[in-house]
Amino acid sequence: MASGIENTRLIVPLTCPTIDEMAAGILAAASAGADLIECRLDYLETPPTPAELDKLLADSPVEIIATNRPTDQGGHFTGSEADRLAILTAAATAGAKLIDIERGVSSGDWPDAKIIHSHHDFDRCPDDLGTIVDELAATSADIPKVAFMPAGPDEALVALDIIRQTPKPTIALAMGEAGLLSRILARKVGAFGTFASLSAGAGSAPGQPTISELIDLYRWESISATTNVFGVIGCPVGHSMSPAIHNAAFDATGYDGVYLPILIQPGGDNFNRFIDGLLDRPWLGWRGLSVTLPHKENALACVGGDNCDELSRRIGAINTITIDPDGTLRGDNSDYAGAIDALCNKMQIAREGLAERAVAVLGAGGAARAIVAALCYYGAETTVHNRTLSRAETLAEEFGCKFAAIDKASSTEAQIIINCTSVGMHPNTGATPLPAIPPSVEVVFDTIYNPLETLLLADAKKANCLLVSGLDMFVNQAVTQFELWTGQPAPRDVMRQVAASRLG
Ligand code: NAP
Repeated sequence: MASGIENTRLIVPLTCPTIDEMAAGILAAASAGADLIECRLDYLETPPTPAELDKLLADSPVEIIATNRPTDQGGHFTGSEADRLAILTAAATAGAKLIDIERGVSSGDWPDAKIIHSHHDFDRCPDDLGTIVDELAATSADIPKVAFMPAGPDEALVALDIIRQTPKPTIALAMGEAGLLSRILARKVGAFGTFASLSAGAGSAPGQPTISELIDLYRWESISATTNVFGVIGCPVGHSMSPAIHNAAFDATGYDGVYLPILIQPGGDNFNRFIDGLLDRPWLGWRGLSVTLPHKENALACVGGDNCDELSRRIGAINTITIDPDGTLRGDNSDYAGAIDALCNKMQIAREGLAERAVAVLGAGGAARAIVAALCYYGAETTVHNRTLSRAETLAEEFGCKFAAIDKASSTEAQIIINCTSVGMHPNTGATPLPAIPPSVEVVFDTIYNPLETLLLADAKKANCLLVSGLDMFVNQAVTQFELWTGQPAPRDVMRQVAASRLG
């Protein structure tokens, strides 16, 4: 490992257009928790004078990295090379403790500053990345740094390999959303530092989290070499509430874990490459994955039906992967379990108590599929109602239940209604899949969780029905995942509170 884990620095880059704004940024970054601040001098509208740099750096409460990046390395400095280096010399004289210079550039006479020797590729992961890193590490520079754009999160893992294998304290970062894992797990593998922006949109490279996300959401200070790693795979995945919920659960229970969003483009090959990347690196301590659209079927294919429970196999999709320390994968579908348990808990019955109860399911998409499979498995008298009748027919035939048009749900004689359509979901909160609650209905379950109370649930409340919300289902599936992965009881109330507060 390149450096002691306790030394992994949280570095905040400042890309301010004026010296005054940069001075204010230094104070703000220091109070936000930065261990180091990178002053991107190339972003200044006017090249700084030595006197300005003296004033800027004299009072900094934390050590400063001075960087004056030329345009061919993704920077903004357009002057001559001599002028560029002269500014760095003035920064070193003014007290910058680290100077960043680019690959192929020789350092100046900066005896009191450490040298970061860097290479950036904003387009790809270079084929000769290993050679580049070796070349940077072989110079007299103190800290080799590479930043590259990965094709996917499997390539982002390469950054962690570099940090582990390079004999000097190293910075290696994969950029973009798919590279986020390399920025957060930098601490686990003992990188010299990772970069986090002061606020959203203020970063110096694509994919930088904010410092408050790193500290508060990903619990930066709790990450160590022993931390177990989890994540949610999806495309898109940036909107997912799961990182907030699971990281809060780890925090509340003192479990040594971190949970990350993993963007994987559609396609089984992309999915499999990432899983192979995790299994090739047992030192990562990757123990579990949530899986969301469009990868739930890919997940089942990757894990293999023999390693999943019977209902997951029938559904043909899983949303949970558990990775044992020996690399064995297990698949579960906590979507169906979360939904059925939300319903049964509210009705105060066991799953088996669903037998012969009449249930009308609205919708025939992915959520309906998991719920219909489970209802039929537990013997409920299920009817699938869908706008596109042929989809209802296909689903009903597969699981051996009835089907009908969506408008026939208004005259259902079912005791339980479960909405699995997206009708009523934000932003169309004025819509409902049922114009009125039929008289036979005693329980209404809306799988939608945004808004927390849909129009359908509001109508059901007026009709004195028992209500089951999409939030109950969502929290249940996260609770199931937490317990599968950690073997500990989940802090359900904390998880629910985080989800509810995120949903406003
Ligand atoms: P999906 O596969 O795209 O299916 C959407 C369903 O909604 C289809 O049956 C579709 O009917 C129907 N639909 C869409 N617009 C409609 C309209 N204007 N009128 C009537 N029917 C309409 O989506 P999904 O993944 O199953 O998700 C469905 C719902 O489940 C979403 O609202 C989501 O919030 C919820 N969900 C909740 C959780 C949770 O944890 N609480 C988890 C997963 C999903 P057609 O077949 O005719 O297009």
